Amino acid sequence: MARKAVRTTAKTAKTPKTPTTATAAPAVQPYEISARVALQARLRSPRREPGGPVHRPLRIYTLDPSVSDRLGGIATVNVPYEKLEKGPLGALFDIRSDGAPRDLRAEALDLDDPHLLLSSGLSPTPANGRFHLQMVYAVCSLTYSAFKRALGREIAWGTPAPDEGPHRLLVRPFVPGANAGYGRETGLTFGFFKAGKRAAGFTIPGGLICTALSHDVIAHETTHALLDGLRSSFMEPTNADVPAFHEGFADLVALFLHFTYADVVERAIRESRGTLGRGSLLTDIAREFGYARSKTGTADALRSGVDVAGIAAFDSDALPSKEHAPTQYDPAMEPHALGSVLVSAVFEAFVTVVRRKCERLFRIAGIDPGVVGQAALSDALVKAIAQEASDVAGQMLNICIRAIDYCPPADMELGEYLRAMITADGDMERSDKWGFREALMRSFRRRQIVPDHVQFMTEDAMRWQSPRTPLNIPDLAFRNLKFDGEPGQPADADELRRQAAALGAFVTNRKYADSFHLVAPGDRLPKGIVQASPAMVQSVRVTRRAAPDGRIMFDLVGEVTQACTVDRGGTMFDMHGGCTVIVDPEGNVRYSIYKRFDAETRRARQLAAMTGPLKAFWKKSGRKWSLQPGMLARLHAAR
Ligand SMILES: [Zn+2]
Repeated sequence: MARKAVRTTAKTAKTPKTPTTATAAPAVQPYEISARVALQARLRSPRREPGGPVHRPLRIYTLDPSVSDRLGGIATVNVPYEKLEKGPLGALFDIRSDGAPRDLRAEALDLDDPHLLLSSGLSPTPANGRFHLQMVYAVCSLTYSAFKRALGREIAWGTPAPDEGPHRLLVRPFVPGANAGYGRETGLTFGFFKAGKRAAGFTIPGGLICTALSHDVIAHETTHALLDGLRSSFMEPTNADVPAFHEGFADLVALFLHFTYADVVERAIRESRGTLGRGSLLTDIAREFGYARSKTGTADALRSGVDVAGIAAFDSDALPSKEHAPTQYDPAMEPHALGSVLVSAVFEAFVTVVRRKCERLFRIAGIDPGVVGQAALSDALVKAIAQEASDVAGQMLNICIRAIDYCPPADMELGEYLRAMITADGDMERSDKWGFREALMRSFRRRQIVPDHVQFMTEDAMRWQSPRTPLNIPDLAFRNLKFDGEPGQPADADELRRQAAALGAFVTNRKYADSFHLVAPGDRLPKGIVQASPAMVQSVRVTRRAAPDGRIMFDLVGEVTQACTVDRGGTMFDMHGGCTVIVDPEGNVRYSIYKRFDAETRRARQLAAMTGPLKAFWKKSGRKWSLQPGMLARLHAAR
């Protein structure tokens, strides 16, 4: 797909003489189908033998080798079971052992070896190269399964697929250098490097630091890969929120995944007993685990640097003083800083919900929640609190991931992400008994992350609206779709291309232009637009979500992108937009989440970003701005 999109853009750029007045676009096919569409059929859930194992227990570092076991630094986690070849090589990940430094040189790891099956894998130690392979395999698999659980389908990779056989993500845990990364050509890479002369934290001077031993770094990079598979245009930084979202979202997944390990949270609560104040239960743990950066320094090099800025002020009802006010959203901010505003907003909502749920537990235990810090907590209470925190973390993770299906396909803004979370969760969990959505709206508003065109910060105003006139796409009704056994699994590539064609024809039909806002051939181009590439169907996927009341909800999510060239007073650049279309099992369009090409505010914002916080991602030659490749590499290099 990457190649195809580039080709379209290049064609746009080469157009010899661009008409200066709005004229009809050349008559070409109104839409194209991305090679990505068919990739969804390439992934197959590992078939389990009846009565066979469901999980493979493996031991991992829950943060990195620096956190002691006493604090919950090591945990045995349940990785979904699949038959593995040496590598490990499974259905989704291909983990390579080459490139290791001399002391860590390792054979490919055989996790199906009976000894390792009996001992929950190798014991965690940085000195054994084979353990590094186990660590990346386990955390990559856990991150993937969080997405699969939330969306109810396999997630296709955004990397090029081989002509036949499974489409796996390449993972290299031994790459010289300080950075870890994800790229479409390289897959996941984890660097190792020698620590400086001065020891920092747990490292010894001149000792080896391996990013492949950091839970959060692995979860963060795997999330980049999964997000790229779900939304290819999120690698096109058209406004500062786009790269900020990639970073912030990757940090959120790592953070919440960590909090889902109940026994890890339990050990951390036990350890910090006595200092537990009413307001700082989770924030203390977050700080203990190094999520909060110190006021002066940066986070430990090994940690992903989730910056939970101002966490001390989170779970108090008092209005924050100026000093403790959370960092406010500002589109002129550098993408990492902007990403941590998002992390901090979602984390605050998480803390609020956990506090609500735990108050009840404290009262049952006869403890005034206001004086928790002074009271000793019983074992049973610690266990119950840890379980609540871990359940809420799991639900927050689901909300964050499910919202991706409800995001516009390109040029996403953080305010739109909030709308996506509120709508997706509202579709599932109608009552919102514990106020997840209310907590999210409140903490986003506290940071001035507010969507455009929304008058009130209320749930009904925040939800995406259904099309004004009912629309039905009969070819996409579930009775007309072909599956391979179950709706999470499409029949084959041809069936997916048929569905993509049905969607492409419908959304580019001029009769429905008001609902999808694509520029179809023969349309008058919007003012200021000089060229429009054909709309591109990027994906058609079924989502299957289990509601808390037991309902199973099915929807079909289609993603259509388009690029248009703008001429703004002689300066030219491409805008990326399109629509996400959510269709119910009867073929009715429930939502069309679009980005308009005629919005002047979008153009002004993009121009400001290209010359401001996104300078490193864009290049101007002559009159035309163009996007530089490798968004994540540029982003991580700037860290
Ligand atoms: Zn990143």
